[in-house]
Amino acid sequence: MGFRDADRHTFYAGSPQLSADSSGSYESIDPSNGKPICKINNSSPKSIDAAIQSAQKAFPEWSSKPPIERARILQRAVALLREHNDNLARIETFDTGKPYSETSAVDIVTGADVLEYFANLVASGGLNGESFRLRPSASVYTSKEPLGVCAGIGAWNYPIQIALWKSAPCLAAGNCMVYKPSEFTPLHAEYLADVYRQAGVPDGVFNVVYGSGEVGAYLTKHPAIAKVSFTGQVSTGKKVAGAAAGEMKYVTMELGGKSPLVVLPDAEVDQAVDVAMMANFYSTGQVCTNGTRVFVPRVMKKSFESALLEKVKFVRPGDLFDMDTNFGPLSSKVHQDKVIRYIHHGIEQDKATLLCGGVEPPVNLPAGLKSGYWVQPTVFTDCKDDMTIVKEEIFGPVMTILTYDTIDEAITRANATELGLAAGVVGRDIDRCHDTIARLQAGITWVNTWGESPAEMAVGGWKQSGVGVENGRRGLEAWVRNKSTLVEMGGSVPTVFAKL
Ligand code: NAD
Repeated sequence: MGFRDADRHTFYAGSPQLSADSSGSYESIDPSNGKPICKINNSSPKSIDAAIQSAQKAFPEWSSKPPIERARILQRAVALLREHNDNLARIETFDTGKPYSETSAVDIVTGADVLEYFANLVASGGLNGESFRLRPSASVYTSKEPLGVCAGIGAWNYPIQIALWKSAPCLAAGNCMVYKPSEFTPLHAEYLADVYRQAGVPDGVFNVVYGSGEVGAYLTKHPAIAKVSFTGQVSTGKKVAGAAAGEMKYVTMELGGKSPLVVLPDAEVDQAVDVAMMANFYSTGQVCTNGTRVFVPRVMKKSFESALLEKVKFVRPGDLFDMDTNFGPLSSKVHQDKVIRYIHHGIEQDKATLLCGGVEPPVNLPAGLKSGYWVQPTVFTDCKDDMTIVKEEIFGPVMTILTYDTIDEAITRANATELGLAAGVVGRDIDRCHDTIARLQAGITWVNTWGESPAEMAVGGWKQSGVGVENGRRGLEAWVRNKSTLVEMGGSVPTVFAKL
């Protein structure tokens, strides 16, 4: 596989014979410099139907393979992903604007790990049901059945990782998938389809369609789609879940957040700042679980801010392929405009104190990158809970510092949101850390760290941040339905219709 900058196909259904049919096209842009990378054809309804039909055709054979055989094929895809890690990372860097130091170490690695995890899980009995003796003459057994053809709809921040976190359990459980990447970061999808094909995944098991919301909406409503696994904004998630509910489809919703990080009074300041930096500036703040509301004890405010100002100097925007670069641009012009609007709002309407950063791009960007979608790491302090920049997801490198007097108060304020994706605490007294985490309303939580999300750890949001989980043992359950069978062995059928 080499990086190809030729026109993309409209869709890839694992079968070179299937013809592509497009509904117009658009250009995919390199966010570091604003220049086009390649052209993407939107999938027409006819193409989407063909992708779904190819998945339907592949389903009977794929779903009836013993799990260990499916696992063997998926393990070959894991090996290919690792073999081609650097090339795939290059593609992700071009497409998302994330530094190569990040994509080459995280994006493909964490996707391949999840594929390996689910392949191992189904090969070692993860799809086994249970059986029990109900009474001497009767037993019950259950089986986990695949759902059928499922749709995966991705966001733009972790493109190949999202595609793998959805397709890995989906395919391992015996389902087929029609996957739509975000229109902003579509490049990985065809390469992932190539990886699956080279690994021996049969034609039609993994299919890709391209386009924006209307392609996603078409998939969501399609009667042949049994489940929609969606990653994106809360507002879009509500539309998708509503449409899917209308047809009684299964859903998994991985949505946005405005997560709190509570720095406890006994926290070591340097460690708290390191966690806050990871929770706000990693991936230029474009991480759903970001801890953007940083609650700091009032007495620690000054020392926290001065340590933070020192460490912000270690944020290094620049050439994305320089391994020292640890901060990229935002992923698109639309998104840059949105983040800058929030920073303006924070200064002008919310009247928070701007500790560092602001609306200007970073200084000292190389000349060729000045046309990219850059912003600076930005910190607001003296923030109040009712400020827009504190309440709404910005999805960029914008930290808000809120001071508190008692831990009870910090917890109450941290929970006073309709969102519940992630939360974290930093502190030395581990009992107090556990107690605080237990009282925070979020599905993904960390103690004295931020952001790591290994394959074994089920992740999913509470409240409006989502429905269901991805990864971990529970992640597989989201791709199967239960069948229970009661077997009567005594020869006498319980009946009310016996002769009197
Ligand atoms: P988005 O909601 O704008 O788009 C997500 C996907 O939905 C895209 O593929 C888009 O084309 C598609 N879409 C748009 N309208 C649709 C419709 N009516 N029906 C079906 N599909 C439709 O989100 P985004 O801007 O791409 O992603 C950023 C958001 O994703 C942030 O809010 C972030 O927090 C969230 N996110 C959540 C997680 C998680 O695991 N919880 C992970 C990554 C990102």
